[in-house]
Amino acid sequence: MLYSEIADAYEKIEATTKRLEMTDLLVDLLKRTPKEIIDKVVYLTQGKIYPDFVKLEIGVAERLAIKALAHASGRRESEIEEDMKKSGDIGETSQKFIAQKRQLTFFQKPLTVQKVYETLDKMAHASGSGAVDTKISLLAGLLADATPKEAKYIMRAVTGNLRLGIADMTVLDALAIAYGGGKETRELVERAYNISSDLGRVAKVLAEEGIEGIKKFKVVVGEPIRPMLAERLSSPEEILEKLSGKCIAEYKYDGERIQAHKKGEEITLYSRRLEDISDQYPDAIELLRRHVLAKEAILEAECVAIDPDTGEMRPFQELMHRRRKYGIEKAMEEYPVSLFMFDALYVDGKDLTLEPYPVRRRVLKNVVREGERVKIAKSVIAGNIKELENFFLEAIEDGCEGLMCKSVNEDSVYQAGARGWLWIKYKRDYKSEMTDTVDLVVVGAFHGRGKRAGTYGALLLAAYNSENDIFETVTKCGTGFTDEDLAKLPEMMKKHVISHRHPRVHSLIEADVWFEPKVVIEVLGAEITLSPIHTCAVNSIRQGSGLAIRFPRFTGNFRIDKAAEDATTTSEIVEMYQKQLKKIAES
Ligand code: AMP
Repeated sequence: MLYSEIADAYEKIEATTKRLEMTDLLVDLLKRTPKEIIDKVVYLTQGKIYPDFVKLEIGVAERLAIKALAHASGRRESEIEEDMKKSGDIGETSQKFIAQKRQLTFFQKPLTVQKVYETLDKMAHASGSGAVDTKISLLAGLLADATPKEAKYIMRAVTGNLRLGIADMTVLDALAIAYGGGKETRELVERAYNISSDLGRVAKVLAEEGIEGIKKFKVVVGEPIRPMLAERLSSPEEILEKLSGKCIAEYKYDGERIQAHKKGEEITLYSRRLEDISDQYPDAIELLRRHVLAKEAILEAECVAIDPDTGEMRPFQELMHRRRKYGIEKAMEEYPVSLFMFDALYVDGKDLTLEPYPVRRRVLKNVVREGERVKIAKSVIAGNIKELENFFLEAIEDGCEGLMCKSVNEDSVYQAGARGWLWIKYKRDYKSEMTDTVDLVVVGAFHGRGKRAGTYGALLLAAYNSENDIFETVTKCGTGFTDEDLAKLPEMMKKHVISHRHPRVHSLIEADVWFEPKVVIEVLGAEITLSPIHTCAVNSIRQGSGLAIRFPRFTGNFRIDKAAEDATTTSEIVEMYQKQLKKIAES
């Protein structure tokens, strides 16, 4: 298959503002792809060459990409940099410079997908002292054979700026249509993805073996399972009602979620976004080695920073010190962690994901030997409002965010990759003012004036509508940013800039700059109101109105641990709005 076919498809996908059209274009591309390489095409389309849990990235810094382009186009680096200041996009600049060069070239080999993939793969594997030169020459070699349009997408892909914003869910839709025999098979395909977290492999098995192959997917140690997520309610009455009167209420610890995969002495930790974060927590690995009794296991825990002097829990933000390549020993000393185990998904040959939660918890208790720094999440079985309320207060007092209330019913399976009502978060109450923060996706920006000229004056923020897999605007936020935040924002957002509203973003407001939905920030607002201009939960409270957050303020936290799809959902905002109304009525 020629890479130009992919580039053509990307160009069309990039031009659309309609979600369904995007899926159709993807279906078309997948159908035209030879089955043997469909996994590669799926990875490439997401700007990757492997699933997230494989610790290999193409990882080309912009500086290096510019050098490669200089080689391939015969232009000076300074000229390229100059042009990039205008275009703001290495893809566009590459397209232009390669086009100008082309007129002088007589002989070119057409690029195949295989060739592009193999070269990117070699780049990802380059290591040691000559790695930089190797990467430059490999990339320059690709560019020498690329058409201008191909150069654009190759350069965007290697620098991590593909900007197509195609969600996993869209790829699953397209796969079910192209190879599953229709939308009815979507659920099975999704389950295979949820337990393997490998979209490329799912695509390949589906294309080659059909839906029967998909049914054979199993939970395997070493392949992270997509995490189960919780819905949110803020009154114990409603929680108990949803959970048929009884639940296991657990402390909701404020740390980083980890999924630990143990195979003998070998332990790998995956983040909530399924990246291998083992290097950040050698101490957690050691703790698990000592405290997990099973030979093979997949367990989940919240990893919490603790005060080395008092042993008390510290806020999530302190774990940021662990996100580093060097000096992890020192960070480990200054910011030690404890583990609070809360689920068992697989133990010694047995897949537990389809077992009810009480069974999984029992297994967890059997395989974890508790110690000072490894504990099973503190819990009670709560059957009435008083019990739940008391335990909630205790959790807050102990420095937790609130409770996780979990279903104990027969059907309380581990819903991999899904947000559902089997787990319900119970966080602090919403008063007539919002006291709780929300995590919103940056989908657009407005140019700043005066003191803020050259940076953004405000950001357009959206909540996630998980039902339709779209992002709906809920507020415009320009407060709470330090000068430092402001200075780094355009640089940070640069790689997500797109030329028009993203098809998965619903907005009635015209932003000056649009972004693909990727970056999540934490915001505190004053209250939630009905709004004629925001699209969040439009028509769900009143016909023609959406919901908006008034007086939003950035808290200073970039939620880099969250993907756009992990942002606060529109239904959570509705819930918060209703709570607020009730409070006002009561007061
Ligand atoms: P949120 O990030 O607000 O959607 O809340 C869900 C997160 O709470 C999970 O991803 C876990 O990282 C965290 N968490 C803390 N304690 C627990 C617990 N006992 N059970 C499940 N999740 C927990």
